[in-house]
Amino acid sequence: MTDADGADGTDGALGRCPECGADVPATAVLIEYEDDDGEAAYAACPSCDTVVKPRS
Ligand SMILES: [Zn+2]
Repeated sequence: MTDADGADGTDGALGRCPECGADVPATAVLIEYEDDDGEAAYAACPSCDTVVKPRS
């Protein structure tokens, strides 16, 4: 577990967790792929410890 730094403007963040709303950093990505909307990724949310599709 790491301390959160800034609340906003996180460089390289994938987006927000749809489960808890926390910012999901690029370092949390598990799988990157493409879907109908373009690039997407699954990541492990560092806040709620759930595998999610972050939304920006
Ligand atoms: Zn979360």
